[in-house]
Amino acid sequence: MPRDTPLLRYLQALHADLAAIDGGAVADYIPALASADPGTFGISIVTVNGTKYSVGDSDHAFTIQSVSKPFVYGMALTDRGVDDVRHRVGVEPTGDAFNSIRVDEESNRPFNPLVNTGAIVTTGLVRGDTEAAQWQRIVDGFESFTGRTLEVDEVVYASEAATGDRNRAIAYLMRNLGMLEGDPETILRLYFRQCSLLVTTDDLAVAAATLASGGRNPITGRRALDERLNEHILSVMQTCGMYDAAGAWAVDVGFPSKSGVSGAVVGVLPGQAGIAVYSPPLDGCGNSLRGIEVCRRLAGDFGLHPHRDRGHPAGVVRGAYRGGEARSTQTRTAAEYACIEAHGDDLTVVEVQGLVRFAEAEFLVGFVVDDPTRSRVVVLDGHRALLVDDHLLPMFAELADLLTAAGRTLVLAGFDAPGIPSGFDRLAMSFAQVDDAIEWWEDAVLATHFTGVGADVARPVTEQELLHGLAGDDLDAVLGALTYGALEPGAHLAREGKPADAVFFLLAGQVSVRLGTSLAPGSARVAAFGGGVAVGELALLEGGVRSASLVADTRVEFATLTVEDFTRISGERPTVRAVVMGNLARSLALRLRRANDRIRVLDR
Ligand code: GLU
Repeated sequence: MPRDTPLLRYLQALHADLAAIDGGAVADYIPALASADPGTFGISIVTVNGTKYSVGDSDHAFTIQSVSKPFVYGMALTDRGVDDVRHRVGVEPTGDAFNSIRVDEESNRPFNPLVNTGAIVTTGLVRGDTEAAQWQRIVDGFESFTGRTLEVDEVVYASEAATGDRNRAIAYLMRNLGMLEGDPETILRLYFRQCSLLVTTDDLAVAAATLASGGRNPITGRRALDERLNEHILSVMQTCGMYDAAGAWAVDVGFPSKSGVSGAVVGVLPGQAGIAVYSPPLDGCGNSLRGIEVCRRLAGDFGLHPHRDRGHPAGVVRGAYRGGEARSTQTRTAAEYACIEAHGDDLTVVEVQGLVRFAEAEFLVGFVVDDPTRSRVVVLDGHRALLVDDHLLPMFAELADLLTAAGRTLVLAGFDAPGIPSGFDRLAMSFAQVDDAIEWWEDAVLATHFTGVGADVARPVTEQELLHGLAGDDLDAVLGALTYGALEPGAHLAREGKPADAVFFLLAGQVSVRLGTSLAPGSARVAAFGGGVAVGELALLEGGVRSASLVADTRVEFATLTVEDFTRISGERPTVRAVVMGNLARSLALRLRRANDRIRVLDR
């Protein structure tokens, strides 16, 4: 049962509407084609995400005919290389009928691979030592596009082989002109068989969606064609795909397409979808009447003409913030935070989103260069970027150099989508996540500017913010209840789900708060704490069980105060409870304020 969506309903209505179109003529120059039912009408669309929409006779099998030509052209380009193929088949539109015998008089080359002269030469270029091997190559090639096993309509094949004198003449002429190697009869058999492959609109929509996906089949996930050759094919389809109606088509519809005499039309919306229509009655140019109308309507109703202005490059910058506005998840002491905030303008984080193509890259680079704050460190946060065009690597390399020359540093963080070219993260210092980059910057600021005790120096427990204001016997009572310990990296200080029965005062080293059982660096980290900070302190408020695990990142020294001891001391000395709870409330309020800052920054 197909998913009921607005697009499916649209296609059903379109199909019902266009089924009423009369006229046109079913091709009969190949006798077996004449028996096609003029009422058969199927439409399929497959998106680059692999979602399929089918209406009407979308599973009716018909012979592929000329729609095979761009695909076999792709196979020849793959097997022989662009130069070798271009030497024998041009890429110029003709304005002639598909079976015209005219060739480029200067070079003797057929004009393009989508007219019969060019297509027959192209078929001859497909690799294989024997006819059987060449045929297998062609079938395998098609099946990589359709993702399904294909068969030949032997009746149509025999019918065309018996009557295809004009194509036979073309093959011999091509050999005479030096464009065709090998036995014309063998190549004609391959060509007629290729035209007689049985497909449905569902198959052709998958094949077209593969062309729309840069040559990668969106259903099987396998590459059918090299990306650059894929562009090559689409360009030829754009200029030569619709017989001698290619010019009007380019104006009215615009997207690359190919039609065939059996009544098929395929259209390619690069980066979006593949379209296939089948309806046998043809117009005077040999294009399916309903097929053309479906494409025209889709192009008009959904704005599919490829030359429409779709640029909004400014959208590439989602937002930007300074180092003082959003801290890393590394928790610091109040004095350290004050130092970081005082140097906030030293860091700018630019959030990059969506597709980064030429215009977006130009905007993004300008945004960084023109930023009046001229932060010493600029982090590009790429975790919302979907794609960076690989041609733009030099532009980003140049940006890194430009900033370096100005005493500034470019940092990349979180660029890990499938559309990010390999090597991008080597253009500048890079981090897996923006949080790591901010933490790195904070550490650098503290190393340069912080005058207090660093996190690597063990601090006396009396410096703990939670114990501020305790003195005399009260302080001694708490200190007397502490037990001291140390942990090696990777060891647990507390585990998620276990009773929260103690607070830990970190004296040296670093502990991170992690959710779940993963120890993967960074991935599950919620926060990190260093010397001078208390962790697990919510145990004093609510007891219950730990909501996260505490894991030593480095060797950690700590002091433990159990909830039981704290309750006992509080019973004897009510001021201890009052002072500690006051400190706890203050520290939670500060943490809440920082969390709110972060949410505000990330939300705008
Ligand atoms: N097999 C057909 C021929 O070469 C294909 C024609 C077409 O679809 O344009 O005559």
